[in-house]
Amino acid sequence: MHENFNQARKGYFRVLSVIIPAYNEEEIIPQTASVIDGILSGENIEHELLFVNDGSKDRTWERIEEQAKAFPSVRGVCFSRNFGKESAIFAGIAEAKGECCVVIDCDLQHPPEKIVEMYRLWEQGYEIVEGVKSDRGKESGLHRFAARSFYDIMSNSVGFDMSRASDFKLLDRKAMNVLLNMREKNAFFRALSSWIGFKSTEVEYEVREREVGTSKWSTKALFKYALTNITSFTSAPMQIVTILGIIVFVVGMGASLEAIITFFEGKAQDGFTTVIILQCFTGSFIMMALGIIGYYISKIYDEVKGRPKYIIDKTV
Ligand code: UDP
Ligand code: MG
Repeated sequence: MHENFNQARKGYFRVLSVIIPAYNEEEIIPQTASVIDGILSGENIEHELLFVNDGSKDRTWERIEEQAKAFPSVRGVCFSRNFGKESAIFAGIAEAKGECCVVIDCDLQHPPEKIVEMYRLWEQGYEIVEGVKSDRGKESGLHRFAARSFYDIMSNSVGFDMSRASDFKLLDRKAMNVLLNMREKNAFFRALSSWIGFKSTEVEYEVREREVGTSKWSTKALFKYALTNITSFTSAPMQIVTILGIIVFVVGMGASLEAIITFFEGKAQDGFTTVIILQCFTGSFIMMALGIIGYYISKIYDEVKGRPKYIIDKTV
């Protein structure tokens, strides 16, 4: 299908690669493919749709194969197992043939018409077009609170507002290559794409309701995701250890002073309760500190092993 495209700089085609991570999305794949293909064809934008099947347990891959037969613009990559959305995005960037790419959710919660708007901004010379949520859609109270805390910590450590950030964005080939050359295994796409800089702008969009299927995130998965991403961007928790140490030291000085004074005053000591409490607190502080440090060491261990972010089983 690419013959008639003039092969642009560095062997990439002047096409837009739409990267669509999919995990157990069999019901919606046909709709996603035809809607996005329809919109982009209608606007005469040369494009490819790159589905990344993230080890789905349902018939997602069969659906993708069918779509690849039906639409010449559809390609698919199939992982050997579930590696997570971040890995799926990176695989998509690695496989993309275009001069720019857009990452979009498979469930059509990100409005596909916005791809056109992003592409036009790219044509005007912007290298990164961030999709920002105008509101966060329907979320329960607890979820909202957890999400807000996570984004506060992230915003502080990355140095810009992350609360409305999403994975829905357009990247120029330059930015794609920078991301591909990063050796980080725990790469947090959403933050990294802003961290790398380049000429960027924003497009606002409203999060839609999911039409079919359910959110693929369990609370446990989200918690793990938050922890991984916070620790991959900041070492602040390690500094908490130092601060805790200083606090315990100051309190310890006070307590020691009091003990010495009462000793010289010759008063009998009956502070056994105090001793127990202090023991328990210092003991638990030390354990927590070791836990935090241990977590970072395990991250270093993961990075050092240098295993691939994902393993591709087959493509279509
Ligand atoms: N997804 C994925 N791998 C996973 C979990 C999710 O590729 O392990 C994909 C999923 O198919 C969808 C996108 O990531 O295209 C967003 O997932 P979801 O809609 O479940 O998340 P939410 O919209 O609730 O944040
Ligand atoms: Mg969704």
